[in-house]
Amino acid sequence: METYGCQMNKADSASIRGLLIERGFTDAEDITKADVVIINTCVVREHAENRVYARLGYFRHIKERINPALKVVLTGCLTRFNRAKLEEEYEIDLIADVYSQAELADCIANDSYATQSLYRTTNYKFKPSELDPDNPIRAYVSITHGCDNWCSYCIVPAVRGTMISRPADDIIDEVKRLCDLGVKEITLLGQNVNSYGTDIGGMKFVDLLERIDKTTSGQWIRFMTSHPKDFSKTLADAVIDLQSLCGHVHLPLQSGSNRILSLMGRSYSREDYLEKIGYLRSRKPDFPLSTDIIVGFADETDAEYEETASMLRTIRFEDAYLYHYSERKGSRAAEKGLPCDEATGRERLAKIIALQRSLSADSLSQCIGTTMSVLIESKARDGGMIGRSRENRMVVVPEGKIGDIVTVTAKEIKGHTLIA
Ligand code: SF4
Repeated sequence: METYGCQMNKADSASIRGLLIERGFTDAEDITKADVVIINTCVVREHAENRVYARLGYFRHIKERINPALKVVLTGCLTRFNRAKLEEEYEIDLIADVYSQAELADCIANDSYATQSLYRTTNYKFKPSELDPDNPIRAYVSITHGCDNWCSYCIVPAVRGTMISRPADDIIDEVKRLCDLGVKEITLLGQNVNSYGTDIGGMKFVDLLERIDKTTSGQWIRFMTSHPKDFSKTLADAVIDLQSLCGHVHLPLQSGSNRILSLMGRSYSREDYLEKIGYLRSRKPDFPLSTDIIVGFADETDAEYEETASMLRTIRFEDAYLYHYSERKGSRAAEKGLPCDEATGRERLAKIIALQRSLSADSLSQCIGTTMSVLIESKARDGGMIGRSRENRMVVVPEGKIGDIVTVTAKEIKGHTLIA
């Protein structure tokens, strides 16, 4: 199984793997001996899409020269983005969209590779989470699929469809099951988790978090990704007050310029964002945050770039995923013909990476001498064990077992890691 892209795709791959294990399959050691290869695709960036086409060429070569029995199955976001091209130009034994995991597993198990592709339009059923055998203390639970926000640079709504919320009882049963299996940390997943429930009425994301908090006993809960327009004061209160919730939020800002935010279709202003963070930090002054930023969007000016840089300095994010804008075919920005100057975007990206590095180093240095809880997840390379704190910081601790939650004091920093 090859997986590209985000954590949602990784969770989907784990579910497909679980469905196949239930049907008697095991992981192949080597592609030359495999019966089937499943490629779970991503199209958020053109690079990820092109990589899949290259892999399809590679697997065709394997089929022709080495393993003629090999079946090639394609799933993930590319299946809805470029269906005609996939069906006409590539030799794929089965194409199944992100909503057809069970049917995909049945086709493979029955050796009935479809003459038609599998595309589901209604009645999507969320699959049980599968634990990663290499890291069984951590689990991912999808609570929504799809997105209705249509940010102008993004094609997720086009490829994953409208947002579907998973029924709350189903999520609670899943959380209980994972806790019983000994999982220590659960991340709730969705393109826009804090819109949860708007399509089914009744329950809001905060209500769901409260129910989950009552279900857990000592497990840590994280969620991603949140949209600033739906990040309410009630949610900020829940993040701080509910015991199971880890003290860290990832809240994509994208730009500090109101004109660019409006062109991006983000539905909030710089002032709205600052107000939300202001409330969170009024309750907990050092509350750690991370974000996503796109520089060089459309005809962003130097002054508008500076507005983004000033937001980084003001908010002091601990971490940021930083990109320069590149046009995505099928997005609203591309349809509208918004300009894309990649050379300027690259220059600004280099500048903002340097800025964020110094801010991240500064934030980490404030942690020296502080005490934190760390969930140990593996052996550290240079001795000791490594894990993440509740605040999502990587920490090396002197000793402990995988799955232990230990309380330590940070003594020094090595790269992006605290050493206790
Ligand atoms: S919120 Fe915007 S960026 Fe995120 S998946 Fe939806 S459309 Fe894309």
